[in-house]
Amino acid sequence: MAYQNTLEYASNKDATDPLISWRDKFYFPMMNNKKVIYFTGNSLGLQPKTTQNYIINELEDWATFGVEGHLHARKPWISYHEQFAAPVSKIVGANPNEIVIMNQLTVNLNLLLVSFYRPTKNRYKILCEAKAFPSDQYAIASQVKFHGFNPEDAIIEVAPRDGEHCIHNEDIIEAIEKNKNSIALIMIGGVNYYTGQVFNMKAITEAGQKAGAVVGFDLAHAAGNVKLQLHDWNVDFACWCTYKYLNSGPGSVGGVFIHEKNLNNPDIPRFAGWWGHNKATRFKMEKEFMPLETAEAWQMSNAPVLSMAAHRASIDIFEEVGMDALVLKAEKLTGYLEFIIDDINKVLLRDKSSRETDTFKKETKDGLLEIITPRDKNQRACQISILAHGRGKELFDKLTSEGVIADWREPNVIRCAPVPLYNSFEDVYRFGIILKSILLPNDGV
Ligand SMILES: *Cc1c(COP(=O)(O)O)cnc(C)c1O
Repeated sequence: MAYQNTLEYASNKDATDPLISWRDKFYFPMMNNKKVIYFTGNSLGLQPKTTQNYIINELEDWATFGVEGHLHARKPWISYHEQFAAPVSKIVGANPNEIVIMNQLTVNLNLLLVSFYRPTKNRYKILCEAKAFPSDQYAIASQVKFHGFNPEDAIIEVAPRDGEHCIHNEDIIEAIEKNKNSIALIMIGGVNYYTGQVFNMKAITEAGQKAGAVVGFDLAHAAGNVKLQLHDWNVDFACWCTYKYLNSGPGSVGGVFIHEKNLNNPDIPRFAGWWGHNKATRFKMEKEFMPLETAEAWQMSNAPVLSMAAHRASIDIFEEVGMDALVLKAEKLTGYLEFIIDDINKVLLRDKSSRETDTFKKETKDGLLEIITPRDKNQRACQISILAHGRGKELFDKLTSEGVIADWREPNVIRCAPVPLYNSFEDVYRFGIILKSILLPNDGV
């Protein structure tokens, strides 16, 4: 059935949505006794109602056992992180031995660059996307300087074409080929945080490796959002945070993928710590480091059990729901949000009076609300970024005061993430009503 901008349509879609019952299993911030329209799961996912119990269990075991909890807790802390390898490998398309949950995202990115950015005199460049998430830019530049190179020269950024917002995959591949004698590493955000564009990770990996480079991805906006096949795509390494689509709580523990082919390779250096050491002899406390044969070799410290407990609560939900169901609904829900925004644009363009006010700084073919996320559903997941020519902040502030929690990015972009696990078609419909009432206050809505 074609999308319709009516409450009846949205309610019907919710009534037949197999995932709708999950909505009640999350805490929503409230405004005027109503759930807010929460479109910021791409920044901090909502709290599952089960999370508290997972954490309380560990606090109880700590109270009961003290240090003995390492062995006697219901889930012994010594091996606490091990429970993630199997379920998380399904989320990112990996083998369990390729996964380790540890630290936080930017820390892991730096650690992985220690292993996988090994510049030589002639092959020292890193290719990334222009306007990558700032933390990634800082990490990459700091690694380049650490090795004695100049970021101006050593970092190649692939930018959108003039007048466009997203990057053509062909342009990335062309840049790889052009620099094939000098690139050491390709490091890209699998899903761009700003536009929501999903890159062709398989093609980029293939082209990068053909050019002799190592290929890694930051999957902060991809893990738990898009279908990934890291192992089969032959990606060298990847890392992600767990507090965005993976709903594991503010600053929660990060995830790492290291391809099997890169495990047990003595030529790949790493920073080491005792939790990466052979388990059988770890507590002999001997001098020589004997790395584990899995991605755990990169784990340095013992597990932060409290934030891992929150991660476990979330991963159990992903186990039950499965990525296939999430991706299926995300496509429909994001499509619905796109439709609603286009529908409001049509009214705006018809509405001469609002067009003539000075607020329209620029008119595009889309109208005031320019969607900068790819229109192609294969190149996006659950995010629509709206460029609101000159009215972004005003619009964003009003949306917030009306109970819409979206995300603001300078200079004029509002990012909205309708998350399939807990957002509904009615959320999207109500968002449209609020948006329209702000932009067209006299339109009788
Ligand atoms: C959210 C995000 C980060 C945040 O890094 P932390 O180390 O978790 O603070 C880094 N990179 C990208 C691409 C992100 O989307």
